[in-house]
Amino acid sequence: MKNCPGCLKAGHDTYCLPCRKRLFGGNLFGGKKVSHVLTFSRPVYDQARLAVSGRRLSISGIQTKMSLALRAGRLELTETGGQYILKPIPHGAFRHLGMAPVNEHLTMQIARQVFGISVAENALVEFAGGELAYLVRRFDVQEDGSRRLQEDFAQIAGRSEESHGKNYKYDFSCEEIGELIRKHVAAYPVEMERFFQLVVFNYLIGNGDAHLKNFSLIRNEEYGDYTLTPAYDLLNTRLHVPDETRTALPMFKDDFETPSYQANGFYAYDDFEEFGKRLQLHKARCARIMQVAVAKEREVFSLIDRSELSDECKQAYKDAVRDSIRALSHSHAESRRKGSGDQDIAPDIARHISNRPARPVKSPRRGK
Ligand SMILES: [Zn+2]
Repeated sequence: MKNCPGCLKAGHDTYCLPCRKRLFGGNLFGGKKVSHVLTFSRPVYDQARLAVSGRRLSISGIQTKMSLALRAGRLELTETGGQYILKPIPHGAFRHLGMAPVNEHLTMQIARQVFGISVAENALVEFAGGELAYLVRRFDVQEDGSRRLQEDFAQIAGRSEESHGKNYKYDFSCEEIGELIRKHVAAYPVEMERFFQLVVFNYLIGNGDAHLKNFSLIRNEEYGDYTLTPAYDLLNTRLHVPDETRTALPMFKDDFETPSYQANGFYAYDDFEEFGKRLQLHKARCARIMQVAVAKEREVFSLIDRSELSDECKQAYKDAVRDSIRALSHSHAESRRKGSGDQDIAPDIARHISNRPARPVKSPRRGK
């Protein structure tokens, strides 16, 4: 490894000091020294996983993530009370699954480093034997081991497979999540803007699986109020499922579609503008978030280049981002106003765009 397996900074063959502090804690004199190479191999992990999952041979059992605890400077498998979660390469039929941990780590780093989004502490680790896995620190476990109350939006909305069927994580809308934030979060204007930014980010990097359970609230134990958790489970799903819809959840409730969506079949600038309006955010704040989203291609590409993705996946990741930038920059309303057909980009972000590919790829609408 040539770059820090935490932040991808060049010239580090293991975690750099800031990453050690963030991931493992430390004191004035530095972060705890923890190797990015685990003391156990993938087969040992799979065996432990099988033991925990009821001693029944099943592929899904092997796929599931497992807890790790930091003991005497080493990350060890644990059944209970771990502060970390390890997500190895999943088994399955999707494409490039060997790259899934690298993809998730990269995407989380883009969110934090390029867009300043609060994310769960994360890094890559290496099994003994060399296989990479994704490591994430649990934000609901505090230093003393006690847990903070966290509820995802499926729980908050009272939806489960029993009550709403197999598709329960997807039969909802971003707008309705916004309504729940307004209902349950005292400081909702701040959290609403974070939510908007995350929805824009997911669209930008091609996260087509940001369903209800991938957004959560957490209780501040000191004041008893709720905020959004740091972001988690961010990845470019288009690397693995190229034909997937661009978003897991529709943006609007009651099957509402903007004229732009009706004309194009994909979410574009006007949709996000309308979405921000429905979240009761200031128009200028939303426009600013959109501007930033489409203006950071160089920074995003630079991180992609420093990642451990294969060349093919790097290219696919860049193509997906470029495609989304084009979609986010497109304003149907502006095109109509100027009578220039559907080629125009939103006026607020026009000046940030240069050398874009011809047009965004239409994605199929999600079937119910
Ligand atoms: Zn680092």
